[in-house]
Amino acid sequence: MRIDRITLTHVRIPLGEPFRISNGEVAEKDGIVVAVESDGLTGYGESSPMAGSFYSADTPESCWQQLTSSLCPAIVGREFESLDAASAWIDAQAGSNFAKVGLETALWDMEAQRQGVPLHRLLGATRDYAESGLAVGLYDSTEQLLATIAKYLPDGYKRVKIKICPGHDVELVAAVRARFGDIPLMTDANASYTLADLGVYQKLDEYGLRMYEQPLLGEALEDSARLQSQIKTPICLDESLETFAALERAAELGSFRIANIKIQRVGGFRNALAIYNRCLELGLSIWIGTMPELGIGQAQGAAMSALAGCDYPTDVEASLRWFRDDLMDPFLEVRDGRIELPSTPGLGYAINEEKLQRYFVARQVIEK
Ligand SMILES: [Mg+2]
Repeated sequence: MRIDRITLTHVRIPLGEPFRISNGEVAEKDGIVVAVESDGLTGYGESSPMAGSFYSADTPESCWQQLTSSLCPAIVGREFESLDAASAWIDAQAGSNFAKVGLETALWDMEAQRQGVPLHRLLGATRDYAESGLAVGLYDSTEQLLATIAKYLPDGYKRVKIKICPGHDVELVAAVRARFGDIPLMTDANASYTLADLGVYQKLDEYGLRMYEQPLLGEALEDSARLQSQIKTPICLDESLETFAALERAAELGSFRIANIKIQRVGGFRNALAIYNRCLELGLSIWIGTMPELGIGQAQGAAMSALAGCDYPTDVEASLRWFRDDLMDPFLEVRDGRIELPSTPGLGYAINEEKLQRYFVARQVIEK
């Protein structure tokens, strides 16, 4: 494949409700849509870090800078013998995973179109659907948290994940259990606890949760192993698993039992599949998380969730769960807890140019 032209569009879409986690809050969602043209085909990807850098150090602005000044100018005009070669080249460049992922995943869309297969089939999926779980943020009151869960549960989501932070943990889980009974439930702390909070997690052990997502700092793999050895519930790592090397180290230490793989965090499908395959070899459970992204990134997550080893529901939810609008036709929908995947070649969703204009922040075309 020869990369002929790339169009980058930075967009911003209002959220239906602010999304708050332990490190901050956003009311709008930024994304960079990456449209790559090659041999008469156009593939779409999305670079989708959180604004305000409260999940990682990356921001929409830092990714825009890297894409426009180095990554895209360096790849336009280049010829690659295969998707894998192009993907490996992107991975080897300087720059953050959140910048590279927009470019890398666009090439997968293009390759799937070229082969005439849906994206999830190119990735190796045998199912044609993804199971979806509901994720809810932090709220001012427990009543608001319960009301949000009650609002979305009728869509059949396969599990509920609530965000926790120090001081707002056991009583939230207890309230959800009291109101909704024995639903599949898990917590996500976004790295906000330390080993000194062992008692909190030992108390949470009484509530029969599916997993505890990222209790401790991303780099605190030894502490995570210590925590895991003293609690019953499996630890799931998210922020920690930025690289293949981090996965190997965490597995060796016994820091976790479940991996949340985020395509954005690891820089694209090639790295995500490498981590997925290694988790299978190690007998670890896997599921696919989201930032959440706008529709392109979410559709990619849904596609990867159809892989056989993804044995827990994804965080990919209906388009209108978080956002007032989306860039694609049709929207992602969840029925009976499932997202049916498109049978058309590539990503399988049309990108609405009128909406790219409506939510436009900046655009740049890079060609030779
Ligand atoms: Mg998480």
